[in-house]
Amino acid sequence: MEVKWYGTATLAYSAEGKTILFDPFLPMNLKLPQPELNELAACGDIFITHGHFDHLIDVPKVVASGGGPVFCSKTAAETLIREGVKESNIIVVKPGDLIERGPFRITVLRGKHIRFDLKLIMQTLFNRRVIMHRHNLKLMLRESRRYPAGEVLVYLIEAEGKRILHLGSLNLDETERYPITVDVLTVPYQGRSDLPSYALKIMRRVQPQIAYLHHFDDSFPPVSSPVDVQPFISSTKKQFTGLRVIIPEAFKSLSLP
Ligand SMILES: [Zn+2]
Repeated sequence: MEVKWYGTATLAYSAEGKTILFDPFLPMNLKLPQPELNELAACGDIFITHGHFDHLIDVPKVVASGGGPVFCSKTAAETLIREGVKESNIIVVKPGDLIERGPFRITVLRGKHIRFDLKLIMQTLFNRRVIMHRHNLKLMLRESRRYPAGEVLVYLIEAEGKRILHLGSLNLDETERYPITVDVLTVPYQGRSDLPSYALKIMRRVQPQIAYLHHFDDSFPPVSSPVDVQPFISSTKKQFTGLRVIIPEAFKSLSLP
């Protein structure tokens, strides 16, 4: 199975000539490489983890360019319909659902959104980046109200004998039964001041062979920031023997071992 990161939480998985795309987003930070809309649309099936703007706002454009159908929660579906996506292009899913798409078997699980901590909020607000990116901030404050998270979904993706637990936000639901010892856990690495210890708790629960980091780039400043992934690498090295951490390079397809 191949995995390709397009920045933010946009990931595509390919197996046997079929591709599925997650949370397509075009970075607001124009200094970052921009994915081609046509390439995202050509992936076909789109899966959404939650309704926040950095996971949903560009989905109507991808669908208008020929992408879809979109598998998402009821809340995300309502947002997409409001934004002009036809109902016939949307498939509402919920925890417990099993979706078969070509070689992929995708199980929908209950997820949970990361809780932004006060320290991070203060660091974000009292920062000269707020002045530099004030136009972005204004836009994001407006859009955050129009793009509620809704139900947060986690996807277990199975194909070619591999199991990937895909997270769009770094948290797990206390009551959900997640598979343990998966081949890959995708780790959206953004949203707290204490990310290494926070992520370690999730790593201990899932015990993956590979941690594939994403969402660590500064794609919507000043709310996002470029996150240093080194503390995660060094703390996991101490605690998990045999774990492989992948820090992907954007737009570079990687074959999962
Ligand atoms: Zn979010």
